[in-house]
Amino acid sequence: MSTTEKETLGFQAEVKQLLELMIHSLYSNKEIFLRELISNASDAADKLRFEALSDNSLYESDPELRIRVSFDKAARTITVSDNGVGMSREEVVANIGTIARSGTREFFRSLTGDQARDAHLIGQFGVGFYSSFIVADRVTLLTRRAGAPAGQGVRWECHIEQGGGAYTIEPAEKAGRGTDVILHLRAGEDELLDRYRLAHMIRKYSDHIAVPILMEKEDGGDERINQASALWVRPKNEITEEQYVEFYKHVGHDMEPPLAWTHNRVEGRQEYTQLLYIPAHAPFDIWDREHRHGLKLYVRRVFIMDDAKHLLPAYLRFVRGIVDSNDLPLNVSREILQQSRDIDAIRAGCTKRVLDLLEDLAEKEKDKYAAFWKEFGRVLKEGVAEDASNRERVAKLLRFSSTHADSEEENVSLADYVSRMQPGQDRIFYVTAETFRAARSSPHLEIFRKRGIEVLLLHDRIDEWLVGNLIDFQDKPLASVARGELDLGGADGEDERRKQEQSSTEHRPLVEKLKSVLGEKVKDVRVTTRLTQSPSCLVADEHDMGSNLARILKAAGQKLPDMRPILEINPGHPIVQRLQVGDERFADWANLLFDQALLAEGGQLEDPAEFVRRSNELMLSLGGQSGS
Ligand code: ADP
Ligand code: MG
Repeated sequence: MSTTEKETLGFQAEVKQLLELMIHSLYSNKEIFLRELISNASDAADKLRFEALSDNSLYESDPELRIRVSFDKAARTITVSDNGVGMSREEVVANIGTIARSGTREFFRSLTGDQARDAHLIGQFGVGFYSSFIVADRVTLLTRRAGAPAGQGVRWECHIEQGGGAYTIEPAEKAGRGTDVILHLRAGEDELLDRYRLAHMIRKYSDHIAVPILMEKEDGGDERINQASALWVRPKNEITEEQYVEFYKHVGHDMEPPLAWTHNRVEGRQEYTQLLYIPAHAPFDIWDREHRHGLKLYVRRVFIMDDAKHLLPAYLRFVRGIVDSNDLPLNVSREILQQSRDIDAIRAGCTKRVLDLLEDLAEKEKDKYAAFWKEFGRVLKEGVAEDASNRERVAKLLRFSSTHADSEEENVSLADYVSRMQPGQDRIFYVTAETFRAARSSPHLEIFRKRGIEVLLLHDRIDEWLVGNLIDFQDKPLASVARGELDLGGADGEDERRKQEQSSTEHRPLVEKLKSVLGEKVKDVRVTTRLTQSPSCLVADEHDMGSNLARILKAAGQKLPDMRPILEINPGHPIVQRLQVGDERFADWANLLFDQALLAEGGQLEDPAEFVRRSNELMLSLGGQSGS
């Protein structure tokens, strides 16, 4: 790419769309542009301070980092300028002209055109620099990378009236390092050209910024508008709720307020401060395990890195915030972080605080916890496998649908479940299925309903994996209701076992005949007391994989060992009762019982047309019998 001439470059199609949306859906929130630009300026100051740790000459002759906000009534411009790290031409193109985040295309596909909904989605996406266009129709960015010679600045400009689909970029003179963003206001935005108004907006949204934000006084001198001290080092009782919220928006790159936070100074072998937030909404790329996960790391107030993943385990990757260590060396690198015992201690400390906070919400602010669970429950579930040392704590935070609750939205905890267990019940029962409705109407639940025993209804794909890792809770093993012999435990269990033994003997010839007719389709056939309404169901053998998991793995293209289910029949059901070993249609009835059981648990018939043909014939034959 030539770096000596003016070029016109096209925006990514997504950026164009973002600009248009932003202007329309965020207009009622227009003051945020200033917060976003100041947030970027503050990040640029942080980055310079960090780079200067190893190359002090980057400060040039200007070591006092600051942000300046100014306006020009005649030219109708507002300028936010910083003497931070600045950008090279390549960086401008990469950071301002493109949205590099993976998942961007999917994000744009999710936009609906409904302004309220889209405004919310855009908030999740993070509007950042582009929010300038809410109030400006032309934005000029003039920047020089710290360390580059004075002549080697870059001018970037985008003029909305002229299509908005392109921007120009050209070399420019810029004496000082850092970035000026010049907003040429849209018609009708002149009210923003007011010192009092701008200062008010800075105090409201950017007071927490640690770099001084200056404005020129009427008489010519500079005035610092913000407190300009790192928020997290201030005493807790001197920080207002609004300040915590605005700081979150800055570190979390989020437009919406957080759900909750925890702020602590930790003393002892490791001294550090942590300010950790739980966002109200999952970012659109929460499942992209690579992107922006982790906390900002500071060492004695100096910014060291973004997204320090080692400060939290991956299952807490939704947490945003900062850790400021008093002990780590300033030259700490990602490599060092990976194997540092000090970092292990900080990670354990942060994990503990987040779990404390979640437990607190679960106990005292149930609505908030429900909101958290809805957004991040699936991520938290990963903790059961990932964090062996906190497994019991994480398990306590899990929530599930249950036969005890009335709707899909209503959740229960494992502790709730245990407190409702029947006398003698020694296991936590669950059923897994593709959907809530399929789980709720599973035939395997019939006996549990009749006996008043609660069953957890697991219908999230990750649940199969979860129960593979969560063997027990408070010493109560988790048990699938669709695997192995029925064992309710306690007096109920004894009762059912006796009944089953009796009816097994009674129905032995029928069972044997079914086995021989179904042949390879089944591993075994047996009589059950599991069912009260359905004629039959399938269960997995004690140590075989459950059918739901098998279906998930198969859909994911995995090769599975050949596992055959066990067919269980309900001797109390009229269909089973009228089934005679000598019936000329015995084979049809047997296959029907099998196919129905398979359908009822969400399985797929190998030959659906055959099933239909057989059902029709049986219906017709019944019609003939009744003589009508
Ligand atoms: P975010 O701040 O969430 O990364 P923005 O849209 O606000 O997103 O900014 C995009 C990128 O542009 C930043 O990550 C940064 O690399 C660059 N940038 C923006 N403003 C500045 C600035 N004042 N100085 C240096 N780089 C900047
Ligand atoms: Mg930003």
